[in-house]
Formats: sequence, structure tokens, C-alpha cells
Amino acid sequence: MFVVMAVTASEAEINGVKSHILAEGLTPFDHLGSERAVIAVVGEVGPKKTQLMNRLAALPGVESVTPISRPFKLTSREFHPEDTVIRVLDAIIGDGSLTTMAGPCSVESRDQLFETADAVAAAGATVLRGGAFKPRTSPYSFQGLGVEALRYLAEARERTGLPVITEVMEPNQVDIVQEYADILQIGTRNMQNYSLLTAVGRVQRPVMLKRGYGATVEEWLMAAEYIVSSGNPNVILCERGIRTFETYTRNTLDIAAVPLLHHLTHLPVIVDPSHATGKRWLVKPLAMAAIAVGADGVMVEVHPNPEEALSDAEQQLTLAEFRSLMDEIRPIHAQVRHVHGDPVLSSAALRVGEVSKH
Ligand code: PEP
Ligand code: MN
Repeated sequence: MFVVMAVTASEAEINGVKSHILAEGLTPFDHLGSERAVIAVVGEVGPKKTQLMNRLAALPGVESVTPISRPFKLTSREFHPEDTVIRVLDAIIGDGSLTTMAGPCSVESRDQLFETADAVAAAGATVLRGGAFKPRTSPYSFQGLGVEALRYLAEARERTGLPVITEVMEPNQVDIVQEYADILQIGTRNMQNYSLLTAVGRVQRPVMLKRGYGATVEEWLMAAEYIVSSGNPNVILCERGIRTFETYTRNTLDIAAVPLLHHLTHLPVIVDPSHATGKRWLVKPLAMAAIAVGADGVMVEVHPNPEEALSDAEQQLTLAEFRSLMDEIRPIHAQVRHVHGDPVLSSAALRVGEVSKH
């Protein structure tokens, strides 16, 4: 449930509600909107929910108390109707602008990274990607350059001005990765690694949570809820395809997940057509589709010489192919911005069962 404070509520009244929630053995999370404060009540409320709602509704400064109908709370649009906007260096993610994360699957050398970084920056990418610690299906495949790659990524940021995103695979890597990277990526294989989710929830860097390849949208949002409820509100969701019976593509891109997520959550949504398809020639059409259905952006793998890549050789774009992808998605983005309307308005329909004082 969440408590909507009156526009005129004082700080003391807001603190009074928070203390009451703590005294009930629950955790308050406040969201200070432009007009008023809203406080989510998180924890095991149990069968006495109605009594608790009535008690909270009677406190001074409270306007109304509303149940959150979904299992995810802090990530739901019901609690937080406005879009979450994440700022990292000059990149703004989730404000309606086009985010393009691009770079190699793996950082293989300083030269390979710099050549790619310069080219994607010149083509208009807003975030540089590159794997340092690689989660490979086979223990015999290239596992990434580790900390050496993190250093190259930091140098590439200096060179291009682009913020960098890279994957963190274990809780004990969070400190070192956040020292070098601007956005922490959680890969598909770790979406339900709860100790890792909690660990990235305790730091300040934004986190991009990729969808587990066998996860439902609800499981994915519950995973995001772990991060936000651990204290980090800056979460980006990345649809990267799920495993189905289809074998021509590496995964199946769940394109419907994009508008669905915009309906269910305030978090920004990015689509990764590279891992979704596993095929270079399918990346551009699916990136176009992603932008057309309202994704906040795409993440694309790019390599100066894909055939020689040490990982995901078949799906990485050449530098020229990335430029051409940018040329195609820009006008689509400009065209569809107004089509997707204002999710804040449609979220009003979600507000059911409100308990009001008046
Ligand atoms: C990646 O983006 O580098 C990656 C390994 O992707 P995923 O976790 O989606 O397979
Ligand atoms: Mn890859």
C-alpha cells in the first residue's frame, strides 16, 4: 500500500507517518513528487491490512491510503506514476530521448575498444558498452580481460565523454566494477541472483537489469524490486530475448514486453536486439521495431572486425552497419514519440480500492 500525503503536509507529519510504519515492523519508502509526498509501505503486512490502512489514513497530514495491487511495489506505476529518469554524465535515460548503448561484446584490447568507441561516439551513441567479466556458457571460451578491460573502458570514457556500462557477475566484483564503470549491468544468467541484486542495490551507480532468458515479466520486475528495495532506485530494464522453441534465432525477442513494461512500471526500458537474435542481419530490423513500440533505447554489439571477435562473432555489427542502424532508428524515434502517449494518465486506471479520509 502507499500513503498519499496532503499537498500541505508538513515534514513533521511525513516523519510521523514513517515512524508509524516502522513501529508496525514495516519499511517506509518515500517518493517526493513535484506536488506531494507519497510513502510506500513495504513488508509482510498480513491479514490486518484493512485496519492498518484505516490507522494510517487517520494520521495527521494524510490524504489517502491506496493498496498496491501488484506483487512488485516500488517499481510499480501505481506507486510512482512519473517515469524514472536516469542521468549519467551527459546521457539521460528515460526522458523520451533516444538512448543508444553500443560497443563490443567483449573488450579484447585497448585498440579494439578505442576504435569501436570512437566510431560509435561519432555515430551518435550515448553510452559505451563492453564486457570485462564475461559469463560464457563454456568454461573454455574467452572469459574477458577482467580489471584490465575496466581500465580500458575508463580510458575510453575519457576519450569519448561517453558513460560506460559493463557487466558485474558476482557480489564481490561490485566494488571494483563501480570504481570504473558508470552503469552496472546484470546479465540474463544472473537475473535471479538475489545476493548480487542486493549488492548492486546498496551502491549509487545505475543498474541495467537484463531479463532472465526464462523469466516472466513479473519475475523480472520482482528482481528489479530487490535492487530498488535495497536502496538503489536507478534501475533500467533490458529485454534481450527469451528462450522459446524457435531455433533460427538465438532467443525470441518479446517485443510486447516493451509497452507492457511501460504500463506496469516507471523504469526505463532498453532492448538488446543483438543477444535477442544472435544474427547480425536481424539486429537492425529489430532495433527499428523496438524503437517503434516505444523502447527508451537499444543496446547493440559493435566490433571493428566482427568475424574475428573473441565472443558473439555472428551478431556484432561492423562500424558501418552501426552507423546505418542509427540512421534508420533516429527518424522512427522522432516519429513515434507522440504516439505512445502519457503512461502517467493511463496509470490512473490502475488506482483501485483507495481508502480516503474525505
Ligand atoms: C552482454 O550483454 O554482454 C551479455 C552477456 O548479454 P546477456 O546477459 O543478455 O546474455
Ligand atoms: Mn555478447
